[in-house]
Amino acid sequence: MHVFTELRGPITAVREEESGNPNAGFVRTTEGTIIIDALRSPAEGATLLQAAQAGSGRLRALIYTHEHVDHHGGSTGYPALEVAASEGTDRGIRDFVGRYRTQLAEAGLNPLMATLVFDSSLRFLGDPEVRVVELGGHATGSSVVYIPSERVLFAGDLIFLGRLPWVGTGSPRKWAESLRTLEEWDIQTVVPGHGPIAGKEVLAEQRSWLEAFATRLEELQAGGTAADTAIKALDEEFGLAAGGYSEPLLQYMRQALTERFGFTG
Ligand SMILES: [Zn+2]
Repeated sequence: MHVFTELRGPITAVREEESGNPNAGFVRTTEGTIIIDALRSPAEGATLLQAAQAGSGRLRALIYTHEHVDHHGGSTGYPALEVAASEGTDRGIRDFVGRYRTQLAEAGLNPLMATLVFDSSLRFLGDPEVRVVELGGHATGSSVVYIPSERVLFAGDLIFLGRLPWVGTGSPRKWAESLRTLEEWDIQTVVPGHGPIAGKEVLAEQRSWLEAFATRLEELQAGGTAADTAIKALDEEFGLAAGGYSEPLLQYMRQALTERFGFTG
């Protein structure tokens, strides 16, 4: 069941409390409501849209924090809408939709494509002002949504709470750097991509984990460790399976080690 939490006056976070599925949110601005991510399924997306439209009903934009389908599949069936995404995210979604066209059709998913593609950052002026900044790390184009006047950060999947971060698609080293950047910002409340709403301290906590993981990954890679051995070592040392990596995700991670992180098969 989705829980709607009014964080600060104009900002609502939308959380699926039981499953660890992705979070979303919306910000009511003087120029219309801005939705942040669209959840996974059309039904979930519709619930989000309905809540965002309650009141004035005027929608300004939908922002995608990154390319993963659990954050944009829910826009299936949305009315035509300005959709903002970073270049990296837009490219990632187009690649994904092209590659999995049949599977997406079978699953009844036809997400909205970005109409407002930005390079590095974007500002929605108004009250409150809403900023989108591409930082990268979890996925190539991973972006955060920041409402400076309220000191609220929608971190997208740069923050996972209650389960381990998913490191099979981006770069853990780059991800840690992105979190270090965010630690410098004036933030009070963090809405993670998955898990409960938290305070700023989660940025440094997640960064420490990612730095340790990236360091170990680099050591294994430099030592010429084979992907199978490396995935076992990482699982033992970081508790991947216990921390939420299902068997298919571990398989995917193993594949990522050879295809993206330079490990031998
Ligand atoms: Zn993700």
